[in-house]
Formats: sequence, structure tokens, C-alpha cells
Amino acid sequence: MAYHRVAALQFECTRCGQCCIGDASSGVSLSIDEVEAAQRLLGLSKAWFLRRYVRRLSTVRWEIRLQADGRCPFLTDQDRCSIYAVRPAQCRTYPFWPEILESRGSWQGEAGRCEGINRGRTIPVSTIEKKLKQLERL
Ligand code: SF4
Ligand code: SF4
Repeated sequence: MAYHRVAALQFECTRCGQCCIGDASSGVSLSIDEVEAAQRLLGLSKAWFLRRYVRRLSTVRWEIRLQADGRCPFLTDQDRCSIYAVRPAQCRTYPFWPEILESRGSWQGEAGRCEGINRGRTIPVSTIEKKLKQLERL
């Protein structure tokens, strides 16, 4: 059973930006709606946005191309998301991803990466379930 069903999980984002920095195995995927929302927010043409910031994963999904240093290209020098209002579902739902909620070990393991885990208020199970549903729809 998923860990959030058996334990009260605390989370409060400190906006440290660490979850926006990855390696070759990480990636943030986007739908076409998310591509268009980001492109519009940044005032860029869709063609330029697609060429400059993402790679195609399938006919319906794209992935943000991380910079050579692993930072998401939308992470500012002040470690803020420059497309925060329209950030992809994958970012909106972190750290409540199925693989992180799989067990106590996976949740505590992720706490080594995200300092917001085990901090602040307890997140209601219903809120976590809503986030999981958002991910299911991807
Ligand atoms: S790593 Fe955790 S605390 Fe830091 S910005 Fe990401 S979600 Fe927030
Ligand atoms: S889109 Fe924003 S929230 Fe998502 S990884 Fe990039 S900087 Fe972080």
C-alpha cells in the first residue's frame, strides 16, 4: 500500500530549487498544452520554444532539455521557476509521485534530495490523491 495511506506525510517547499536540477536520467515531461502555456508566458514562438527548450518523446509528449550543468533552463539564477504559473504537472505534483510514495524507504530516500520533505504541515491524503490523479492523466 502506498506510504501516504499508512503514514501522515509532512511537506513544505522551501524553494531551494534542488528538484529543478537533475542528471542525464532525469527529465520533466510536458503535454502540448503545457508547451503552449510556457511558450506564451515567455512570449516566444512555439517553433522557437520547441527547438530551444524541449525534445520530443512521443507524438503527444515533450521533455525539457536540461542544461549541461543539470539545471532546468527555466530555473533562474535566484533558483526560482521562471514559468512557475504554468509549470508542468510533473513539477506541480512533486514530491507526491508514485515511485516516491511507494514505501517509507523511497519517501525517506527522497528526503535526502528535497529538504521540504518531513517539514511543515501534514498534507491531507485527499490532496496527495489528487496529485496522483493528475499524474495518471499524463
Ligand atoms: S527540492 Fe523540495 S524544498 Fe526544494 S524546491 Fe524542490 S520541492 Fe521545494
Ligand atoms: S519547469 Fe520550473 S519547477 Fe519545473 S523543473 Fe523547471 S524550473 Fe523547476
